[in-house]
Amino acid sequence: MDKDKQFSKLSDHTFKKGVLYTPFNSSLGDQLSLSPWAIEWLPEYLWLALILEQYGREDGLNVVSRIAGELSKIDKGLCIPMLSKIIELEPQKQRIFYEVICKWATRDVLSPLTIIYRTDKYALFYEYFSDFETSIDEKTVTLQNVIEKNLFHQTNEATDIRFLILWFNVFAERIHFARGMEITKALVEYPKLSHDHQEMRLYRSLIRSSEMALRFREGNGDFPKRFWHSLGLLTKCRTFIIDYGEQVGGSVSFLEDAVNTIDYLMANNKESLLTDEKFSVCLGIATYALKIYKEVLESRIGDGILGRNALRTITEVYVTLKYMSLKEQDQPDIWKAFKDYGIGKYKYVILKAREVEPDLEKHHFALPVLEALLNEDKGEEFTNMDTRLFDNQNIRKKFEAIGENDLYDLYYEYDTNFTHGLWGAIRESAMIFCDNPSHKYHTVPDITFEQKLRSVEHDCEYVLKKLFNQLSSFYEFPDFFIDKYGGLDD
Ligand SMILES: [Zn+2]
Repeated sequence: MDKDKQFSKLSDHTFKKGVLYTPFNSSLGDQLSLSPWAIEWLPEYLWLALILEQYGREDGLNVVSRIAGELSKIDKGLCIPMLSKIIELEPQKQRIFYEVICKWATRDVLSPLTIIYRTDKYALFYEYFSDFETSIDEKTVTLQNVIEKNLFHQTNEATDIRFLILWFNVFAERIHFARGMEITKALVEYPKLSHDHQEMRLYRSLIRSSEMALRFREGNGDFPKRFWHSLGLLTKCRTFIIDYGEQVGGSVSFLEDAVNTIDYLMANNKESLLTDEKFSVCLGIATYALKIYKEVLESRIGDGILGRNALRTITEVYVTLKYMSLKEQDQPDIWKAFKDYGIGKYKYVILKAREVEPDLEKHHFALPVLEALLNEDKGEEFTNMDTRLFDNQNIRKKFEAIGENDLYDLYYEYDTNFTHGLWGAIRESAMIFCDNPSHKYHTVPDITFEQKLRSVEHDCEYVLKKLFNQLSSFYEFPDFFIDKYGGLDD
């Protein structure tokens, strides 16, 4: 019950966002709910599903009723619905069974199953139901179609099959329902009423629970497993690419306005640029974030994995900036400490590189440049590695301290999955849902690189605006920027 509720909430949510998720949701819903019915039992009863598919519900139920009735008259032991048990019957009895089917249904109806059951073990089945006028592709399509309709254990189609299973057992007198019981009434009325009849709601649930109770008596070994295996190999994956359609992008005009603002701040604070650590750190952080954003826009990686890494970094530097401004009251030299921490990190790498002596021709860091940076402000012997304020362990506390819990939960926490390559991120970006019902909805690698993600451009801009808003509390901003973006809530 709770599960249903959860699904409908999800679909409401996606609808509000105006994205066409519906086919994915319905498939995903099936996948999440794939029950023992689908995996362990459906292969046994596909022959019944094929008859209903061919003749329609009313005539199909009638055909199966005649088959079951006639089998029970010949031999109650023959009146069985499970295919694994049918093919285990001794040859003479199997022939009788198949003759009865062929009396009431045409041979081609079960022919799709012969693409699976064609070896010696199923020789008689193959003899009776092979049909060379229908191509293997057509048979496969029919089979997949029937599987799709019956895979979810509560569809009307699957309930019809489950009703027939009960019927076989009633005909064979393996189960008895007393007069006056609701299930007895349900069994009598079910084939007479259409599914939209009011009473059918109750009947369907009675049928399903009775059929499920019956299963405890039965065992079918690895028959279903072999069925799914054979069919899985016979059919191709049908990758389901989610199309997010037109997405809300970022704007080049914001990037330009932000760049012009940095330019303005430099012109107005030339003195600070030369001497003021805070000014240099603030502009450095802002420019670093803008460069990342420019790469996102120019390289069009907003809907890719790297876009999420970009957003995560922009979010993190904004939080660091605001956190430092908060701590500045107690620790005025925090800006200098930030620089020292970063250079200290570089010192570690440089010392390691000198030890290991990597092939610097090919390595992605430029050691001489790094060494120059390390010695820029003071000799490297005087650079300590202070990790207290800026280490990653306390990142959540920093978000809390500056009142940005939502930013942590909905941005940083999510995008970190992509940075660390955790399964949620891998599944969302690199593994595609397979919409082939005969594969029971698994996932396949996106080796054609088709699956895109929801774009981060809008969110990058959202966080950058926060960052610039923070900067505007330190330095006088140009009027054009205030006029255009000044209303942004912090
Ligand atoms: Zn597949």
